[in-house]
Amino acid sequence: MKRSFIREILEHTTTASISFAGGLPDSKLFPHLALKEAANKVLENQSSLQYSTSTGLTSLKEKIATQYSKDGFATTSDEILITSGSQQALDIITRCYHDRKITIEAPSYLGAMNLFSLNHLEIDSVSLAHDGIEIESFKKSLCKTRFTYLIPDFQNPSGCTYSQEKREVIADIIHQKDALLIEDSPYNKLYFHAPLPSISLLIPKNSFHLGSFSKSLAPALRIGWIRADKKLLEPLIAYKEAMDLHTNGLVQHILDAYLEKETNYEAHLEMLRDSYHDKMLYFTSILNELLPSFIYNKPKGGMFIYGKFKGIDTTILLQKCLEKEVLFVPGAEFYTHNNITNEIRFNFTHSTKEQIKKGLTIIKEVSDKMLS
Ligand code: PMP
Repeated sequence: MKRSFIREILEHTTTASISFAGGLPDSKLFPHLALKEAANKVLENQSSLQYSTSTGLTSLKEKIATQYSKDGFATTSDEILITSGSQQALDIITRCYHDRKITIEAPSYLGAMNLFSLNHLEIDSVSLAHDGIEIESFKKSLCKTRFTYLIPDFQNPSGCTYSQEKREVIADIIHQKDALLIEDSPYNKLYFHAPLPSISLLIPKNSFHLGSFSKSLAPALRIGWIRADKKLLEPLIAYKEAMDLHTNGLVQHILDAYLEKETNYEAHLEMLRDSYHDKMLYFTSILNELLPSFIYNKPKGGMFIYGKFKGIDTTILLQKCLEKEVLFVPGAEFYTHNNITNEIRFNFTHSTKEQIKKGLTIIKEVSDKMLS
């Protein structure tokens, strides 16, 4: 089994490195003081250290369900299963439905692709256009697979946002074929303008909607969830129980206490959106100035800028940039086949503006040399 390129590269990152590689939030924006206050409060009560229920803390599930309902997707707490990050949500679902083939986007999230292979799912990749997966190929693929994994909000790695029209067409196709959708949406709160409703909202009996606090609060919490119809959720609970009994109870209590003050989370999200939007605009302005031949679409949210160079093998570019301690991920890593040679994913949230300018200047110098 091959290790994740990104996790390996993270291990080689030093304090001197400028990394546009990992999908890391801006550490300076973590709400550590509010979480500390919540943790202190929770630890006053010994019972927060006790074993908990397999599906998650009821009051935390209620808060997540309320958020869905506020967003227009009526949800009750028994339609939520709390998981150890959305990565575990993917694992639970694909273990439970392990005998399936699955349709995914090309490019797609590396961590999901590795997990699907580990859980013996046969992968069928369909190209991603600027407004979502290519519909005709998707339809054909679903005749073979009847199971699909999509990331419609500020996709990792491409930054793509599915149009409202495509969301509706995709929901129709899944419904007609009585297929199952895993809609993975860890970035949906990180929009720069307005959020779009999920695909799952249109087909609640045929979908798993996955969420996470990793990008909107802090990844170290390792708290994610699955939102699904009770019938679909039921068989997953046995897997969750067998895998780890329940998600870290202490962290669930801390998160629940933090979310108790509703303004805590809302104000934090507002601040994150503003700050990430500003960073994205800065990153793209420097990209346009230094690397005008790099072709990309500006993301409408999330953490990534994805695009392609003309005539440059980005794996070779990375090797040369690594010598100067600048990191990014070559696009080839996000495909099941490795014949895409000129694409790159940049994370724009983790680095400071100074690092962004310095890192992109180094990439410019190295790529100019490769072309000369
Ligand atoms: N899905 C996608 C699309 C991701 O980008 C990530 C993290 N990079 C995950 C799932 C896993 O997130 P977590 O387990 O931290 O919730």
